[in-house]
Amino acid sequence: MSVADYMRLCLTHPDWGYYIRRDGIGQNGDFTTAAEISQMFGEMIGAWCGHMWTALGSPAPFNLVELGPGHGTLSADLLRAATRQPGFIPACRLHLVETSPVMRSWQKQSMAAHEEKITWHESFDTVPHGPLIVIANEFFDALPIRQYIRRANGWHERLVASRMNKLIWDEGQTDCTNAIPVILQQAVMGAIFERSPERESLAEMIAAHITRNAGAALIIDYGFQGPELGDSLQAVARHRYVDPLASPGIADLTSHVDFSALAHAAERRGAKSHGPITQGKFLNDLGIGIRATALRRARPDKAEDIDTSLSRLTAPGQMGELFKVMALTAPEAPPPPPFR
Ligand code: SAH
Repeated sequence: MSVADYMRLCLTHPDWGYYIRRDGIGQNGDFTTAAEISQMFGEMIGAWCGHMWTALGSPAPFNLVELGPGHGTLSADLLRAATRQPGFIPACRLHLVETSPVMRSWQKQSMAAHEEKITWHESFDTVPHGPLIVIANEFFDALPIRQYIRRANGWHERLVASRMNKLIWDEGQTDCTNAIPVILQQAVMGAIFERSPERESLAEMIAAHITRNAGAALIIDYGFQGPELGDSLQAVARHRYVDPLASPGIADLTSHVDFSALAHAAERRGAKSHGPITQGKFLNDLGIGIRATALRRARPDKAEDIDTSLSRLTAPGQMGELFKVMALTAPEAPPPPPFR
């Protein structure tokens, strides 16, 4: 099977999928997200949403869509911060795109105060029309990718096969050179190129909503500006990297996001893309430092924790540089803060 089919089965198979069966988020799980590190992350995004909603002309009602909300921490912090924007909360309809029953029950709990506003969706396809703001933190990295490998006789799709009850890497026969960007076609033997039709088609769908109904989207993830070569498929269990073929459905399986591919996809549907900029720059320019100072003053006993979280979120050696932020808007809209 293709790497894409393997990823899809590992993550979302109705009985055995990682996200269906496991709660991987947090210290006792497999990985931690920015939203779980500090309330400041969701609060900054709440301030951004409040600004964008006003810039859109304060539409009421409007749809606030979170893709893959995990424990619901980001949205809960976002909504608390956005109460400062008069009219935002009453106008807001929450649409949570989530396949996992375990995660849905977390979200129900963390957003209990807003339960009557929530509609859950299996996928973005069913989000209703109307002005919208979309937030996706560490969601695109979980959508399937395809991989291609350079050989003497062209490029071949990388496959996952089973031999003697063990999963192994394999390769397709067909020459897939046409799927590779021209500037990368002459890469060294053994080079790998990744592409994600699913991520691109989701970016197209979001863009189509924005151009048709007015709105904005904020996409945050680890990634790069392609086209680029490299094998970024990674499996993580208990906060450690493991072999992606060793424990299907038990380890989290993701890959780095090519932000250029998402931008091009969104632009094909008439939206405008902004960034990507680093997560460090995004949070610093939005004023996370000021928020940290206020929190330190309110909770001097927690000052050390606040400083540690601030640097985990923004420092270059931590999440500050690997994680990138991209915004999508209508073509005529000015660049949203802090994109220039
Ligand atoms: N955004 C959250 C959690 C990220 S983990 C945070 O920042 O903490 C990825 C989330 O996406 C989980 O909630 C997972 O259940 C969900 N998810 C993964 N693949 C999905 C898919 N194909 N469709 C819908 N939800 C998915």
